[in-house]
Amino acid sequence: MTSGPAGEPVIRLSSVAYTYRGPPPVTALKPTSLVIQRGEHVAITGPSGSGKSTLLNLLGLLDKPTKGSIEIDGIDVGAAPERERAAVRAHRIGFVFQSFHLLPYRTSIENVMLAQVYSDEPRRHRHAAAMAALTQVGLDHRAHALPTALSGGERQRVAIARALVNRPSLLMCDEPTGNLDTATTLELTDLLESLHRAGATLVVITHNPVVAGRAQRQIAIRDGELTEISSTTTAPQTVAPDPQPGSGAPEPPPAPQTGPPDPQPGSGPPNPPPVPTEPLPPTDPEPPRPPPTLSDRPPPADHAPGGLDALGFPDD
Ligand code: ADP
Ligand code: MG
Repeated sequence: MTSGPAGEPVIRLSSVAYTYRGPPPVTALKPTSLVIQRGEHVAITGPSGSGKSTLLNLLGLLDKPTKGSIEIDGIDVGAAPERERAAVRAHRIGFVFQSFHLLPYRTSIENVMLAQVYSDEPRRHRHAAAMAALTQVGLDHRAHALPTALSGGERQRVAIARALVNRPSLLMCDEPTGNLDTATTLELTDLLESLHRAGATLVVITHNPVVAGRAQRQIAIRDGELTEISSTTTAPQTVAPDPQPGSGAPEPPPAPQTGPPDPQPGSGPPNPPPVPTEPLPPTDPEPPRPPPTLSDRPPPADHAPGGLDALGFPDD
């Protein structure tokens, strides 16, 4: 992860609101201010329709707020041109999704290396960096396995390695254990916690109270309003629903969410993950998915697993 002093804001939402235009218009996020500091591990929970995906799309720069401003690492990304937003997404945010989104005909290390296509890492260092990311998630010994040969938990570890390989400022996880059984969920939660201890900044959207309970800070979202429900940080209160004109006394915070999980039609993220893309071949079996930057055709017969040629990188 990008290093930097702990306690420095990675994300700052200032009076951010989001309204779907409709018709009819739907205010999915009410004006909210939120600061997430470097090194925090934050869980966001809420029932279906409460605004989680809307918030994720804003935090991940997939959408722009209809009101207010968003800063990532001090960059006012709401106002930035799309090119700069794309660069922030590619370099500063690592995404992890419920359904892994690995390319099926690419090995673990190739899937991780796909995230490096637009990175600043010199090509000759990419293989080693990808292997280091796999080591970080305890999967270096499966570097040359195809996703079909991996368990669900191992696939998600590859996806986490891919999200980490460019050393983002922030790891954004959307229901990262949603497709995993209980034992694997615990393993993944241990991994997220160890990444946090190693300095990662994590935002985890989850329905699972066990996963949420391992975060240092828990934020509930309900009807587009965020409420801090627990925090073990020494940071000041950093979720602030903006004052509503004419509103009376503030409502008590809602109880922690225990509702049923969202239906996940299509199981993909609401928008494809945000990386500069080249057109995908029509044979791609499961769009949308992260860094779709290279062909997903089966490798050629002379394919050497993990080799740069297999990824189409010219030699240095
Ligand atoms: P969650 O992810 O917590 O289930 P969402 O962020 O998807 O919630 O939705 C929040 C609210 O915004 C819901 O009332 C939902 O119906 C509405 N909404 C989501 N997407 C759209 C859209 N494209 N157009 C209009 N309303 C939407
Ligand atoms: Mg959702």
